[in-house]
Amino acid sequence: SAAPLGSSVIPIVNKLQDIFAQLGSQSTIELPQVAVVGSQSSGKSSVLESLVGRDFLPRGSDICTRRPLVLQLLQTKCKPDGSEEEYGEFLHLPGKRFYDFSEIRREIQAETDREAGGNKGVSDKQIRLKIFSPNVLDITLVDLPGITKVPVGDQPSDIEARIRTMIMSYIKQPSCLILAVTPANSDLANSDALQIAGNADPDGYRTIGIITKLDIMDRGTDARNLLLGKVIPLRLGYIGVVNRSQEDILLNRSIKDALIAEEKFFRSRPVYNGLADRCGVPQLAKKLNQILVQHIKAILPGLKSRISSALVSVAKEHASYGEITESKAGQGALLLNILSKYCEAFSSMVEGKNEEMSTS
Ligand code: GDP
Ligand code: MG
Repeated sequence: SAAPLGSSVIPIVNKLQDIFAQLGSQSTIELPQVAVVGSQSSGKSSVLESLVGRDFLPRGSDICTRRPLVLQLLQTKCKPDGSEEEYGEFLHLPGKRFYDFSEIRREIQAETDREAGGNKGVSDKQIRLKIFSPNVLDITLVDLPGITKVPVGDQPSDIEARIRTMIMSYIKQPSCLILAVTPANSDLANSDALQIAGNADPDGYRTIGIITKLDIMDRGTDARNLLLGKVIPLRLGYIGVVNRSQEDILLNRSIKDALIAEEKFFRSRPVYNGLADRCGVPQLAKKLNQILVQHIKAILPGLKSRISSALVSVAKEHASYGEITESKAGQGALLLNILSKYCEAFSSMVEGKNEEMSTS
């Protein structure tokens, strides 16, 4: 089944947030940003869309992404009748809710033109879009313009340097996960994505290699050695994907159908047998989820100690007013206890390598 980003992490984060809410404090769980990098038309926007599971990004064979798009996913509750409501809201159009996702795409295009002009110009001024949905994790994804070499349209002569500087400003942040996208029909040794990701993250602790366009490789070639890391090793490894082609876009093929076609593609090619954990967008989502789980695990001890010191200071404050604080303190201690138990259970589960989390 399709595994959009976050599906297995949402229950953990929700649980932690419930605990924080009971303590009356805001959530302090900050998840890393995820940014896509690579050359133009390598399939960056396509990969992000599949991860989110909705059609809303401008994609195409020409330069489409011309401004950084900072996409904040925000989890909302289902409506009382159980129905799900998903909508987008732009920072530059406060209060206007977009329920139609193709309208979101048109607005991204229009807003790109407003700032960067209609003739292929590129701008480093962000477009900020929030997507509210019951089915997402609170995480920020960044879609970035691709690296190009030759100025076209209104682009300045130093377009390549400008785009590289723009990309670096996002991916050099130590908390940014980098999806380095390279099409399978180009040489990995020439990959702009791996080159720029390597500059930002030389030890490869936060770079995932993504190989797109496995469906249009030269006859007689395949991506097996690429995916196995035999060509250029990468600490977090590679995932191969098949996104929608330009024809699929023109025919309005849905993400759901594309995921089914992708699954069929890998199933019908013996060369990818045994590489199931490296093939397909659902595997990419799973890999990202595992990284997020590890991240949460790493920040838990800090969260615990913050909560205990918060409890101590609350107790002191009450004491200084001379109040009877028995019940308050008791309630706090109880919550801390719940959190500690939860952390233990969580840690042992992570160590047990069971990345499919259960909520019960
Ligand atoms: P970006 O410039 O890196 O954001 O790339 P896009 O996502 O806009 O895709 C560029 C073009 O490549 C579009 O026409 C896509 O349909 C096409 N494309 C992307 N990924 C694949 C793929 O895996 N297979 C095929 N056949 N086409 C793809
Ligand atoms: Mg793009």
